[in-house]
Amino acid sequence: MTGPPGDAASLDIRFMQHALALSRRGLGSTWPNPSVGAVLVREIGGAPVIVGRGFTQPGGRPHGEAQALAQAGPMAAGATLYVALEPCAYRSVRGGVPCVERTLAAGVRRVVSAVEDPNPRIAGLGHALLRTAGVRVEAGLLASEAETIHRGHFRRVREGLPTVTFKIARTADGYAGGVGRSRIAVSCPEATAWVHLQRSHFDAIMIGVDTALADDPQLTVRLPGLSHRSPVRIVLDTRLRMRADMQLAVTARSTPTWIIAAEDAPAEPERALTTAGIEVMRVGRGADGHLDLHEAMALMATRGITRVFSEGGPRVGEALALQGLADEVIVSTSPAPLGAEGILAVRPALAALLADAARYRLARVETIGHDQFSFHERIG
Ligand SMILES: [Zn+2]
Repeated sequence: MTGPPGDAASLDIRFMQHALALSRRGLGSTWPNPSVGAVLVREIGGAPVIVGRGFTQPGGRPHGEAQALAQAGPMAAGATLYVALEPCAYRSVRGGVPCVERTLAAGVRRVVSAVEDPNPRIAGLGHALLRTAGVRVEAGLLASEAETIHRGHFRRVREGLPTVTFKIARTADGYAGGVGRSRIAVSCPEATAWVHLQRSHFDAIMIGVDTALADDPQLTVRLPGLSHRSPVRIVLDTRLRMRADMQLAVTARSTPTWIIAAEDAPAEPERALTTAGIEVMRVGRGADGHLDLHEAMALMATRGITRVFSEGGPRVGEALALQGLADEVIVSTSPAPLGAEGILAVRPALAALLADAARYRLARVETIGHDQFSFHERIG
Protein backbone atom coordinates (compact mmCIF):
# COMPACT_ATOMS: atom_id res chain seq x y z
CA MET A 1 0.00 0.00 0.00
CA THR A 2 1.34 3.44 -0.91
CA GLY A 3 0.77 6.78 0.79
CA PRO A 4 1.34 7.82 4.39
CA PRO A 5 0.88 5.19 7.11
CA GLY A 6 -2.23 7.02 8.33
CA ASP A 7 -4.04 6.00 5.16
CA ALA A 8 -3.69 2.27 5.78
CA ALA A 9 -4.79 2.70 9.39
CA SER A 10 -7.87 4.69 8.50
CA LEU A 11 -8.78 2.19 5.78
CA ASP A 12 -8.53 -0.58 8.36
CA ILE A 13 -10.90 1.32 10.65
CA ARG A 14 -13.33 1.96 7.81
CA PHE A 15 -13.49 -1.69 6.76
CA MET A 16 -13.77 -2.86 10.37
CA GLN A 17 -16.66 -0.45 10.91
CA HIS A 18 -18.27 -2.08 7.90
CA ALA A 19 -17.78 -5.54 9.44
CA LEU A 20 -19.24 -4.33 12.75
CA ALA A 21 -22.27 -2.88 10.97
CA LEU A 22 -22.82 -6.27 9.32
CA SER A 23 -22.55 -7.87 12.76
CA ARG A 24 -25.30 -5.66 14.14
CA ARG A 25 -27.58 -6.72 11.31
CA GLY A 26 -27.71 -10.31 12.49
CA LEU A 27 -28.26 -9.56 16.18
CA GLY A 28 -31.33 -11.37 17.44
CA SER A 29 -31.41 -14.02 14.73
CA THR A 30 -28.21 -16.02 15.15
CA TRP A 31 -28.53 -17.36 18.71
CA PRO A 32 -27.02 -19.47 20.18
CA ASN A 33 -24.16 -18.25 17.99
CA PRO A 34 -22.71 -14.74 17.95
CA SER A 35 -23.55 -12.50 15.01
CA VAL A 36 -20.30 -11.94 13.12
CA GLY A 37 -19.77 -9.63 10.18
CA ALA A 38 -16.87 -10.13 7.76
CA VAL A 39 -15.48 -8.09 4.89
CA LEU A 40 -12.84 -9.24 2.39
CA VAL A 41 -10.76 -6.53 0.79
CA ARG A 42 -8.22 -6.85 -1.97
CA GLU A 43 -6.12 -4.40 -3.81
CA ILE A 44 -7.14 -4.13 -7.44
CA GLY A 45 -5.32 -1.66 -9.66
CA GLY A 46 -3.74 -0.04 -6.59
CA ALA A 47 -7.02 0.59 -4.79
CA PRO A 48 -8.66 -1.47 -2.04
CA VAL A 49 -11.85 -3.15 -3.24
CA ILE A 50 -14.42 -5.12 -1.24
CA VAL A 51 -14.63 -8.55 -2.87
CA GLY A 52 -16.80 -10.30 -0.28
CA ARG A 53 -19.10 -9.47 2.62
CA GLY A 54 -21.10 -11.60 4.97
CA PHE A 55 -22.71 -11.95 8.34
CA THR A 56 -23.87 -14.94 10.35
CA GLN A 57 -27.10 -16.25 8.88
CA PRO A 58 -30.35 -16.92 10.80
CA GLY A 59 -29.97 -19.85 13.15
CA GLY A 60 -26.22 -19.24 13.43
CA ARG A 61 -24.92 -20.77 10.18
CA PRO A 62 -23.23 -20.22 7.80
CA HIS A 63 -20.82 -17.91 9.64
CA GLY A 64 -20.04 -14.44 8.31
CA GLU A 65 -16.54 -15.37 7.17
CA ALA A 66 -17.87 -18.34 5.19
CA GLN A 67 -20.40 -16.06 3.49
CA ALA A 68 -17.75 -13.49 2.60
CA LEU A 69 -15.29 -16.12 1.34
CA ALA A 70 -17.96 -17.78 -0.79
CA GLN A 71 -18.87 -14.45 -2.30
CA ALA A 72 -15.24 -13.61 -3.09
CA GLY A 73 -14.41 -17.01 -4.58
CA PRO A 74 -10.88 -16.94 -6.10
CA MET A 75 -10.68 -13.19 -5.38
CA ALA A 76 -10.07 -14.06 -1.71
CA ALA A 77 -6.50 -15.13 -2.50
CA GLY A 78 -4.14 -12.47 -1.17
CA ALA A 79 -6.99 -10.50 0.40
CA THR A 80 -7.38 -9.03 3.88
CA LEU A 81 -10.22 -10.38 6.01
CA TYR A 82 -11.82 -7.90 8.41
CA VAL A 83 -13.83 -9.80 10.97
CA ALA A 84 -15.86 -8.61 13.97
CA LEU A 85 -14.88 -11.59 16.16
CA GLU A 86 -12.04 -14.09 16.19
CA PRO A 87 -12.72 -16.77 13.53
CA CYS A 88 -13.81 -20.15 14.83
CA ALA A 89 -11.22 -22.90 14.98
CA TYR A 90 -13.10 -26.07 15.82
CA ARG A 91 -15.70 -28.33 14.26
CA SER A 92 -19.01 -27.85 16.06
CA VAL A 93 -21.51 -30.62 16.75
CA ARG A 94 -23.44 -29.48 13.70
CA GLY A 95 -20.35 -29.92 11.57
CA GLY A 96 -19.17 -27.37 9.09
CA VAL A 97 -15.62 -26.44 8.23
CA PRO A 98 -14.13 -24.00 10.79
CA CYS A 99 -13.65 -20.48 9.47
CA VAL A 100 -9.90 -20.66 10.15
CA GLU A 101 -9.62 -23.61 7.73
CA ARG A 102 -11.73 -21.83 5.13
CA THR A 103 -9.64 -18.69 5.46
CA LEU A 104 -6.40 -20.59 4.98
CA ALA A 105 -7.76 -22.62 2.08
CA ALA A 106 -8.83 -19.42 0.32
CA GLY A 107 -5.32 -17.96 0.55
CA VAL A 108 -6.23 -14.92 2.68
CA ARG A 109 -2.97 -13.14 3.50
CA ARG A 110 -3.96 -10.89 6.41
CA VAL A 111 -6.69 -11.00 9.06
CA VAL A 112 -7.78 -7.94 11.03
CA SER A 113 -9.95 -9.09 13.90
CA ALA A 114 -11.85 -6.89 16.37
CA VAL A 115 -11.70 -9.06 19.45
CA GLU A 116 -10.81 -12.51 20.73
CA ASP A 117 -13.71 -14.93 21.21
CA PRO A 118 -13.90 -15.84 24.94
CA ASN A 119 -15.60 -19.13 24.05
CA PRO A 120 -13.19 -21.55 25.81
CA ARG A 121 -13.05 -23.71 22.67
CA ILE A 122 -11.59 -20.77 20.71
CA ALA A 123 -10.07 -18.20 23.14
CA GLY A 124 -7.12 -17.22 20.97
CA LEU A 125 -6.80 -20.51 19.11
CA GLY A 126 -8.29 -19.04 15.93
CA HIS A 127 -5.74 -16.24 15.82
CA ALA A 128 -2.90 -18.58 16.80
CA LEU A 129 -3.67 -21.12 14.06
CA LEU A 130 -3.80 -18.39 11.44
CA ARG A 131 -0.46 -16.96 12.60
CA THR A 132 1.15 -20.39 12.64
CA ALA A 133 0.07 -20.84 9.04
CA GLY A 134 1.80 -17.60 8.09
CA VAL A 135 -1.18 -15.24 7.97
CA ARG A 136 -0.58 -11.76 9.35
CA VAL A 137 -3.06 -11.31 12.21
CA GLU A 138 -3.86 -8.00 13.87
CA ALA A 139 -6.34 -8.36 16.71
CA GLY A 140 -8.10 -5.71 18.80
CA LEU A 141 -9.18 -3.10 16.23
CA LEU A 142 -12.35 -1.33 17.53
CA ALA A 143 -12.48 -3.91 20.30
CA SER A 144 -14.76 -1.98 22.62
CA GLU A 145 -17.41 -1.45 19.92
CA ALA A 146 -17.19 -5.16 19.13
CA GLU A 147 -17.57 -6.07 22.80
CA THR A 148 -20.78 -4.05 22.97
CA ILE A 149 -22.14 -5.84 19.92
CA HIS A 150 -21.16 -9.26 21.25
CA ARG A 151 -22.21 -8.48 24.84
CA GLY A 152 -24.81 -11.26 24.85
CA HIS A 153 -22.43 -13.90 23.49
CA PHE A 154 -19.65 -12.81 25.86
CA ARG A 155 -21.85 -12.84 28.96
CA ARG A 156 -23.26 -16.25 28.02
CA VAL A 157 -19.87 -17.91 27.54
CA ARG A 158 -18.25 -16.14 30.50
CA GLU A 159 -21.05 -16.24 33.08
CA GLY A 160 -23.74 -18.56 31.74
CA LEU A 161 -26.18 -15.63 31.53
CA PRO A 162 -27.69 -13.62 28.69
CA THR A 163 -27.29 -9.86 28.50
CA VAL A 164 -30.49 -8.07 29.53
CA THR A 165 -31.77 -4.70 28.39
CA PHE A 166 -34.62 -3.45 30.56
CA LYS A 167 -36.93 -0.88 28.96
CA ILE A 168 -39.73 0.98 30.66
CA ALA A 169 -41.96 3.86 29.58
CA ARG A 170 -43.25 6.45 32.02
CA THR A 171 -45.48 9.48 31.99
CA ALA A 172 -44.07 12.94 32.77
CA ASP A 173 -45.04 12.37 36.42
CA GLY A 174 -43.24 9.02 36.50
CA TYR A 175 -45.97 6.42 36.15
CA ALA A 176 -45.97 3.27 34.03
CA GLY A 177 -49.76 3.26 34.16
CA GLY A 178 -52.76 3.96 36.36
CA VAL A 179 -53.69 1.99 39.44
CA GLY A 180 -56.13 -0.83 38.66
CA ARG A 181 -55.34 0.25 35.22
CA SER A 182 -57.13 0.25 32.01
CA ARG A 183 -54.73 0.38 29.07
CA ILE A 184 -53.14 3.73 28.55
CA ALA A 185 -50.77 4.70 25.77
CA VAL A 186 -47.70 5.97 27.58
CA SER A 187 -45.48 6.11 24.47
CA CYS A 188 -45.87 8.08 21.25
CA PRO A 189 -46.11 6.18 17.91
CA GLU A 190 -42.45 6.90 17.00
CA ALA A 191 -41.26 5.54 20.34
CA THR A 192 -43.45 2.47 19.90
CA ALA A 193 -41.95 1.86 16.45
CA TRP A 194 -38.47 2.20 17.96
CA VAL A 195 -39.31 -0.45 20.55
CA HIS A 196 -40.53 -2.79 17.81
CA LEU A 197 -37.27 -2.31 15.90
CA GLN A 198 -35.31 -3.02 19.09
CA ARG A 199 -37.22 -6.24 19.65
CA SER A 200 -36.01 -7.57 16.30
CA HIS A 201 -32.39 -7.34 17.52
CA PHE A 202 -32.93 -9.48 20.59
CA ASP A 203 -33.25 -13.25 20.96
CA ALA A 204 -36.05 -12.97 23.51
CA ILE A 205 -38.53 -10.45 24.91
CA MET A 206 -39.37 -10.91 28.57
CA ILE A 207 -42.20 -9.51 30.67
CA GLY A 208 -43.69 -10.18 34.08
CA VAL A 209 -47.09 -11.82 34.31
CA ASP A 210 -48.68 -8.65 35.75
CA THR A 211 -47.84 -6.80 32.53
CA ALA A 212 -49.16 -9.74 30.49
CA LEU A 213 -52.44 -9.81 32.44
CA ALA A 214 -52.91 -6.03 32.30
CA ASP A 215 -52.08 -5.47 28.62
CA ASP A 216 -52.62 -8.88 26.97
CA PRO A 217 -49.81 -7.99 24.53
CA GLN A 218 -48.56 -9.92 21.48
CA LEU A 219 -44.95 -8.77 21.86
CA THR A 220 -44.19 -9.38 18.21
CA VAL A 221 -42.29 -7.15 15.80
CA ARG A 222 -45.01 -5.24 13.98
CA LEU A 223 -42.94 -3.40 11.40
CA PRO A 224 -43.09 -3.86 7.62
CA GLY A 225 -40.68 -6.57 6.50
CA LEU A 226 -39.60 -7.50 10.02
CA SER A 227 -42.49 -9.60 11.31
CA HIS A 228 -40.41 -12.75 10.74
CA ARG A 229 -37.84 -11.35 13.17
CA SER A 230 -40.07 -11.77 16.24
CA PRO A 231 -38.00 -13.09 19.14
CA VAL A 232 -38.99 -15.76 21.64
CA ARG A 233 -41.53 -14.34 24.10
CA ILE A 234 -40.90 -15.14 27.74
CA VAL A 235 -43.29 -14.51 30.64
CA LEU A 236 -42.11 -14.68 34.24
CA ASP A 237 -45.16 -16.20 35.90
CA THR A 238 -44.41 -17.51 39.40
CA ARG A 239 -47.82 -19.02 40.10
CA LEU A 240 -48.88 -19.78 36.48
CA ARG A 241 -51.63 -17.20 36.18
CA MET A 242 -51.35 -17.00 32.37
CA ARG A 243 -54.44 -18.24 30.51
CA ALA A 244 -54.70 -20.12 27.24
CA ASP A 245 -57.04 -17.48 25.76
CA MET A 246 -54.46 -14.69 26.01
CA GLN A 247 -52.75 -13.29 22.89
CA LEU A 248 -49.39 -14.81 23.81
CA ALA A 249 -50.99 -18.26 24.00
CA VAL A 250 -53.21 -17.88 20.93
CA THR A 251 -50.19 -16.96 18.80
CA ALA A 252 -47.74 -19.39 20.44
CA ARG A 253 -47.65 -21.73 17.43
CA SER A 254 -46.38 -19.00 15.12
CA THR A 255 -44.05 -17.23 17.57
CA PRO A 256 -42.39 -19.30 20.30
CA THR A 257 -43.58 -18.51 23.83
CA TRP A 258 -42.02 -19.70 27.05
CA ILE A 259 -43.36 -19.33 30.57
CA ILE A 260 -41.02 -19.58 33.51
CA ALA A 261 -42.91 -20.59 36.64
CA ALA A 262 -41.96 -21.60 40.16
CA GLU A 263 -41.32 -25.26 40.85
CA ASP A 264 -44.33 -25.30 43.18
CA ALA A 265 -46.75 -23.63 40.75
CA PRO A 266 -49.94 -25.65 40.14
CA ALA A 267 -49.86 -28.31 37.41
CA GLU A 268 -53.39 -27.70 36.12
CA PRO A 269 -52.83 -24.45 34.15
CA GLU A 270 -49.65 -25.91 32.66
CA ARG A 271 -51.65 -28.50 30.70
CA ALA A 272 -53.87 -25.89 29.00
CA LEU A 273 -50.89 -23.64 28.23
CA THR A 274 -48.81 -26.51 26.87
CA THR A 275 -51.71 -27.60 24.69
CA ALA A 276 -51.79 -24.07 23.25
CA GLY A 277 -48.13 -24.50 22.23
CA ILE A 278 -46.45 -22.68 25.10
CA GLU A 279 -43.40 -24.23 26.70
CA VAL A 280 -43.55 -24.10 30.51
CA MET A 281 -40.29 -24.27 32.45
CA ARG A 282 -39.77 -24.15 36.17
CA VAL A 283 -37.17 -22.64 38.47
CA GLY A 284 -36.91 -22.14 42.23
CA ARG A 285 -38.03 -19.12 44.21
CA GLY A 286 -35.71 -16.44 45.51
CA ALA A 287 -35.60 -15.11 49.07
CA ASP A 288 -38.40 -12.64 48.21
CA GLY A 289 -40.77 -15.45 47.21
CA HIS A 290 -40.65 -14.41 43.55
CA LEU A 291 -38.89 -16.43 40.86
CA ASP A 292 -35.17 -16.84 41.30
CA LEU A 293 -34.24 -14.45 38.49
CA HIS A 294 -30.64 -15.56 38.31
CA GLU A 295 -31.75 -19.15 37.82
CA ALA A 296 -34.33 -18.05 35.23
CA MET A 297 -31.73 -16.13 33.24
CA ALA A 298 -29.25 -19.00 33.48
CA LEU A 299 -31.96 -21.33 32.15
CA MET A 300 -32.46 -19.05 29.15
CA ALA A 301 -28.70 -19.06 28.49
CA THR A 302 -28.70 -22.87 28.64
CA ARG A 303 -31.34 -22.81 25.93
CA GLY A 304 -29.06 -20.64 23.79
CA ILE A 305 -30.54 -17.20 24.48
CA THR A 306 -27.85 -14.50 24.48
CA ARG A 307 -29.87 -11.25 24.36
CA VAL A 308 -33.01 -10.50 26.35
CA PHE A 309 -35.16 -7.39 26.00
CA SER A 310 -37.26 -6.97 29.12
CA GLU A 311 -40.30 -4.75 28.76
CA GLY A 312 -41.59 -4.68 32.26
CA GLY A 313 -42.86 -4.27 34.61
CA PRO A 314 -41.41 -2.04 37.30
CA ARG A 315 -40.84 -4.82 39.83
CA VAL A 316 -39.03 -7.05 37.32
CA GLY A 317 -36.81 -4.15 36.25
CA GLU A 318 -35.87 -3.27 39.78
CA ALA A 319 -35.10 -6.90 40.64
CA LEU A 320 -32.97 -7.38 37.49
CA ALA A 321 -30.91 -4.29 38.29
CA LEU A 322 -30.52 -5.12 41.98
CA GLN A 323 -29.17 -8.56 41.06
CA GLY A 324 -26.70 -7.19 38.52
CA LEU A 325 -28.57 -8.82 35.65
CA ALA A 326 -29.60 -5.70 33.71
CA ASP A 327 -26.66 -4.55 31.58
CA GLU A 328 -28.71 -1.74 30.09
CA VAL A 329 -31.69 0.18 31.46
CA ILE A 330 -33.69 2.37 29.08
CA VAL A 331 -36.25 4.78 30.53
CA SER A 332 -38.49 6.70 28.15
CA THR A 333 -40.47 9.66 29.45
CA SER A 334 -43.49 11.09 27.64
CA PRO A 335 -44.32 14.79 27.89
CA ALA A 336 -47.84 14.23 29.27
CA PRO A 337 -48.53 13.48 32.94
CA LEU A 338 -50.88 10.76 34.08
CA GLY A 339 -52.41 13.28 36.48
CA ALA A 340 -53.57 10.66 38.93
CA GLU A 341 -52.15 8.11 41.30
CA GLY A 342 -50.36 5.44 39.28
CA ILE A 343 -47.85 2.61 39.30
CA LEU A 344 -44.35 4.01 39.68
CA ALA A 345 -42.24 3.04 36.62
CA VAL A 346 -38.82 3.43 38.21
CA ARG A 347 -39.06 2.12 41.73
CA PRO A 348 -36.92 3.74 44.44
CA ALA A 349 -34.22 1.06 44.56
CA LEU A 350 -33.80 1.17 40.76
CA ALA A 351 -33.71 4.98 40.81
CA ALA A 352 -30.96 4.82 43.44
CA LEU A 353 -28.92 2.36 41.33
CA LEU A 354 -29.25 4.49 38.19
CA ALA A 355 -28.07 7.52 40.16
CA ASP A 356 -25.09 5.62 41.59
CA ALA A 357 -22.08 6.38 39.38
CA ALA A 358 -20.37 3.20 40.57
CA ARG A 359 -23.24 1.02 39.27
CA TYR A 360 -24.62 2.67 36.12
CA ARG A 361 -23.50 5.40 33.78
CA LEU A 362 -25.81 7.52 31.67
CA ALA A 363 -24.54 6.57 28.20
CA ARG A 364 -26.78 8.90 26.21
CA VAL A 365 -30.09 10.73 26.03
CA GLU A 366 -32.15 10.76 22.84
CA THR A 367 -35.45 12.22 21.77
CA ILE A 368 -37.62 9.82 19.80
CA GLY A 369 -40.87 11.35 18.63
CA HIS A 370 -42.21 13.25 21.65
CA ASP A 371 -40.49 11.02 24.19
CA GLN A 372 -37.13 11.39 25.85
CA PHE A 373 -35.07 8.22 26.17
CA SER A 374 -32.25 7.83 28.67
CA PHE A 375 -29.83 4.91 28.21
CA HIS A 376 -28.06 3.66 31.33
CA GLU A 377 -25.25 1.10 31.08
CA ARG A 378 -24.11 -1.14 33.89
CA ILE A 379 -20.51 -0.61 34.95
CA GLY A 380 -18.17 -3.53 35.59
ZN1 LIG B 1 -16.78 -19.53 12.05
